[in-house]
Amino acid sequence: MSIFVTRSSMPSFEEYIEEIRPIFESRILTNMGPIYKKFQHQMLEYLDVPYLSLFVNGHMALEMAIQAMGLNQPGGEVITTPFTFVSTTHSIVRNGLTPVFCDIRESDFTMDPEKIEALITDKTVAIMPVHVYGNICDVEKIDEIGKKHGIKVIYDAAHALGVKYKGVGIANYGDASMFSFHATKVFHTIEGGAIAFKDAAYREKLHILKNFGLSSPEDVTEFGGNAKMDEFRAAMGICNLRRLNESIKSRETAYKRYIERIGNVPGIYIPAAQQDVEANYAYMPAVFDEKILGKTRDQVAEALKENDIFARKYFYPAINDMTCYRNVYGESTTPIAHGISLRVLTLPLFEGLSEEDVDRICDIILK
Ligand SMILES: *Cc1c(COP(=O)(O)O)cnc(C)c1O
Repeated sequence: MSIFVTRSSMPSFEEYIEEIRPIFESRILTNMGPIYKKFQHQMLEYLDVPYLSLFVNGHMALEMAIQAMGLNQPGGEVITTPFTFVSTTHSIVRNGLTPVFCDIRESDFTMDPEKIEALITDKTVAIMPVHVYGNICDVEKIDEIGKKHGIKVIYDAAHALGVKYKGVGIANYGDASMFSFHATKVFHTIEGGAIAFKDAAYREKLHILKNFGLSSPEDVTEFGGNAKMDEFRAAMGICNLRRLNESIKSRETAYKRYIERIGNVPGIYIPAAQQDVEANYAYMPAVFDEKILGKTRDQVAEALKENDIFARKYFYPAINDMTCYRNVYGESTTPIAHGISLRVLTLPLFEGLSEEDVDRICDIILK
């Protein structure tokens, strides 16, 4: 049977039906209804954050966070990472801002805090780092840089739901953190997302922005869009949240099997567990060094594919090497991100992936 890089976690059919049953009676399908409110409250508690706003997806949450903070002024620059999913960068550009790419650390692929300050200019309005693969950034240092220069820090935490640092939810760092609840993520609402934030002023703003800028039935105060999460998705969220700890445990088992099998193989690099971090085992990235291993990342991916195992070259290419960014940026300013993107492969990891399947995958890699 084929193994894909990810497989969505699901509640039982009966459990989901139970959760959506009230919708068929109330006929309230969307527009921040009772199930939305219930899910928002539960997620707020789970993330252990002061405020949270639910969205139709993570991308719109990120775009509207920038807008809610009033950062979308002409000429503004945002320091970000090229080693991410393109949504991060697009959220900046689609707000009329200019991304400035900061290189990553070789150790955990997150933004290198030592390289941020040299990129700050009088146009810089924010730093947008990514907790890539669920590896958290150096949040203490980055938050300090943000404060020192009076610029916002918005984390793309799409991969980091459930991650804790020093015992507190990861979204307690920075001014805001975006989570994605897409079907392929650790936790999902089919499509969905949220922005967690500290300043109460953004609460009303985000609420208005995701609903066309309507401040009341008879007035519009913002240039908003439509990015509301509906009741059916919120119901999926409630079901999946119940099972989240169990789901992360299952990922952990598979993850640890990978580490046992290929964690100490010369020529294969897997980022080490981070200090003081409660991980969510979102992804299984491995970097292949041809010089030591004798085979390239692409050859490993091909060998897996021949056995119906579909890993992803995730993240490849780096953002500044994609067609719509390459001409303006190019990868030359971020050599580490470029190098990793050419050598990294994200191996299958999802709830229910058996140790036997992990062994099969590792056997092919090692052969
Ligand atoms: C998935 C993802 C997003 C976008 O989230 P959606 O919910 O799919 O819109 C943004 N950034 C990163 C790093 C992601 O992996």
